[in-house]
Amino acid sequence: MWLKSLKEINGARHMKRMCAIFFIFVFIVCILSSCGTAATEVKKQIFAMDTQMTLALYGDNASNAAEDAVKSINRANALWSKEIPSSEIYALNNAGAGRKARLSESTYDILQKALQFAEETGGAFDPSIGPVSEAWDIQNKKTVLSDDEIAKLLPLVGYKNIVLEEGCAYFRKNGMKADLGAIGKGYISDIVTDIFKSNNIKTAIFSLGGNVGVMGLKKDGSKYKVGIRDPEGTANDYIGYVTLTDSFIVSSGDYERFFIRDGVRYHHIFDPKTGKPAGTGLREVTVIAGNGAMADAYSTAFFVTGLDRAMEFYDKKGGFEAIFITDDKRIIATGGLRDIFTFTAADRGYKYEN
Ligand code: ADP
Ligand code: MG
Repeated sequence: MWLKSLKEINGARHMKRMCAIFFIFVFIVCILSSCGTAATEVKKQIFAMDTQMTLALYGDNASNAAEDAVKSINRANALWSKEIPSSEIYALNNAGAGRKARLSESTYDILQKALQFAEETGGAFDPSIGPVSEAWDIQNKKTVLSDDEIAKLLPLVGYKNIVLEEGCAYFRKNGMKADLGAIGKGYISDIVTDIFKSNNIKTAIFSLGGNVGVMGLKKDGSKYKVGIRDPEGTANDYIGYVTLTDSFIVSSGDYERFFIRDGVRYHHIFDPKTGKPAGTGLREVTVIAGNGAMADAYSTAFFVTGLDRAMEFYDKKGGFEAIFITDDKRIIATGGLRDIFTFTAADRGYKYEN
């Protein structure tokens, strides 16, 4: 009896000592780990996918998160570039009709999403625009294609002739070419956001060639303000801004990649039905959504469909907001932007129709 209770007392003492040692150990580990991962602000600028990209993020793991994001961007470029001979899109584009190209998971997924957006937008967004975009090569060639040249290319455009199955893709026609230019940066925005989230980043803003993503609130607790570019101004001129959090803001327009011949502006967003730069009276379309790939694909699609069809799509489908700038300087925003879009360009001759 006496022996047992002495054992119990000794055991209790031992337990207490062990607990104290354990807590001291946990305390030291906490101090050490917080020293190793103190919250930092990281800003990065890179040139990838033929455009300037900037990342600004804040958090314990910001350096790792930024590094992982840059790696992912470079990996995606290496997989999806039309120009790099080792890319998967290059292999697909040069395989020939009916010949399957094996794809990695992300390439399969982006093509699958691209086909879905093509279907939804009635082919206004079409990832098989490659033969047309390559022949125009707006940035380098600056020559107007003849109607005959375009007529030869048009049968090669048609997303329904891209087939995806069992980790592979193939084209139904010889000479078809995939072009992920209107969705790639948006899709990577989603990947970058996932990387930031898994690194516990609470606040970030990034721009992948104008595809802007914002996460969380600014350090001062306020929402981010993202400027909407004035298509008639320089890169630093805005027609207004949106105030938001956890969103993607993507603009497509005729003011960045274009040339002018005989007073006509030839730009890089093509109507898949005509094979010519889309001309629907719009200068710029901005889409705001919770999904980057969708915002990117839709902004291009609406530039092609024009305002009325885009508004019909908004009423029927929703899931996003949009701002349209017409070539007669009207600005039209969808209903959900009433409280978050601030118009600032009355003095530049714009009219905001809400
Ligand atoms: P940016 O790449 O300048 O942000 P977009 O997202 O609108 O602009 O993408 C334009 C690019 O997408 C073009 O350079 C071309 O490669 C491709 N493209 C052009 N027209 C279409 C279209 N109707 N559907 C899908 N992709 C297109
Ligand atoms: Mg786009």
